[in-house]
Amino acid sequence: MAFKITVLTLFPELFPGALSASLTGKALEKGLWELETVNIRDFATDKHKTVDDTPAGGGAGMVMKPDILGSAIEKALHQSMGKIIYLSPRGKSLTQALAKSLAQENHLVLLCGRYEGVDQRVLDEWNIQEISIGDYVLTGGEIPAYVLIDACVRLQEGVLGDVESLNEESFSNGLLEYPQYTRPQMWKNRQIPEVLISGHHEKIKHWRLSESQKLTKERRPDLWLNYLSKEEKYHEYLTKI
Ligand code: SAM
Repeated sequence: MAFKITVLTLFPELFPGALSASLTGKALEKGLWELETVNIRDFATDKHKTVDDTPAGGGAGMVMKPDILGSAIEKALHQSMGKIIYLSPRGKSLTQALAKSLAQENHLVLLCGRYEGVDQRVLDEWNIQEISIGDYVLTGGEIPAYVLIDACVRLQEGVLGDVESLNEESFSNGLLEYPQYTRPQMWKNRQIPEVLISGHHEKIKHWRLSESQKLTKERRPDLWLNYLSKEEKYHEYLTKI
């Protein structure tokens, strides 16, 4: 059964959008994943097709109505039970580990918010998981949905030509990826590091690991600390006090 994604949105015309290009687009054509969109506005009941209302308690902006969202969710779950996710800046951060676990689901239902977001009762009713793509606020959940879908689709079997690249890339082993080079050997007086053209596989492996460690330590001390063993963490701590 192909990995199925249902997107609940006020802007279904945005899908597949960026996901129709390159690997994710080819995989969609091949049926390695399936995409369905549900237009939340189709469930509005008044003649103006209203989907939002003012926040209870007052304040700025508008909130997406629970009755309309509820009908859209019920439609999305009609054929197959899926895991519902609300893209939200308040959510758990999307990491490679979280993407790996979501990629194993059969069906993800992604709720894209607009305005000030959705009525809390919708989240409580279905015990919906909230996921954030970073500590900043975007206008809507559609771009975060692209990010989550891309991260999960490339992990589906048959999507990447060379699965080895999944083991080597950033975050898969707790480190950032090493620097990459390709021909020409000399460009603007810059040479590809000698070891990479030595043909010596062990030395190349060693160089790549050490570059990955150096980059992670410099750029992402949070990842670096996780990567270290207990003894190494203790040693690192001692060097800092
Ligand atoms: N009032 C909300 C808050 O302060 O948390 C922000 C609402 S935002 C303007 C509108 C919608 O964009 C949200 O409901 C959510 O679906 C989406 N969104 C914005 N930033 C996001 C992020 N960093 N990660 C995931 N979704 C985001």
